[in-house]
Amino acid sequence: MRKNIVAGNWKMNNDLTQTQALITALKQQTTSSNAEVMVAPTFTNLLEANKALKDSNIEVIAQNMHFAENGAYTGEISASMLKSIGINTVILGHSERREYFNETDEALAKKTDAALAKGMRVIFCFGEELADRKSGNEETIVGDQIKNALFHLEGAAFQNIVLAYEPVWAIGTGETASPEQAQDMHAFVRKTLADKYGNDVADGVSILYGGSVKPANAEEIFSKPDVDGGLIGGAALNADDFFAIVNAF
Ligand code: PEP
Repeated sequence: MRKNIVAGNWKMNNDLTQTQALITALKQQTTSSNAEVMVAPTFTNLLEANKALKDSNIEVIAQNMHFAENGAYTGEISASMLKSIGINTVILGHSERREYFNETDEALAKKTDAALAKGMRVIFCFGEELADRKSGNEETIVGDQIKNALFHLEGAAFQNIVLAYEPVWAIGTGETASPEQAQDMHAFVRKTLADKYGNDVADGVSILYGGSVKPANAEEIFSKPDVDGGLIGGAALNADDFFAIVNAF
């Protein structure tokens, strides 16, 4: 059975003191949710966050990594470096990485391979831009993003992959895909996986939705059969809001 997951992407927010304060607030939250909960602080705060959340059921994850093992890649971080501080999950392919740092499907395929080779779990993000949706091309764009970056993998690799559909037009804009739009795309993605790898693989992969998820809309979005959780940006920076979303499960 696939898991429900709520992951908070803190992006380039929170210095060390702010990170410690947010973690303190998160630890005060209570939940009976069945969702796995994760938070992704910035690189400089991963070690501290991981120590502080060690005895909690919140997993600390990374926002990005490089595909090389080590070497002359100034400013980059490898899978081994993340593993060495106890980080076992990484977000790859966020639209901000694609847009501002020119991450291509090809680079994301290499990053995914590098993470999986180290036994890490990958949250792989994809999603169409507004122009793609307006022209009715959203399924082609999303299908190609997934095929180009992931379809060289064996089916078994998907045990360590979580997918995150994040329509670019809904990220940080306050505009959310309707629950029906999210469900339609998630069902399309699951069918794309099933066509390539069969139903057992497709049914086992968690597909998260991301894009202006808030306490007020989480429950309705998460109620859709192919929506297995959320990747949360802005609302993850507030412990009450984040746990209100977690508690939507
Ligand atoms: C995100 O950046 O992954 C995201 C979903 O952001 P927000 O929730 O702020 O739209």
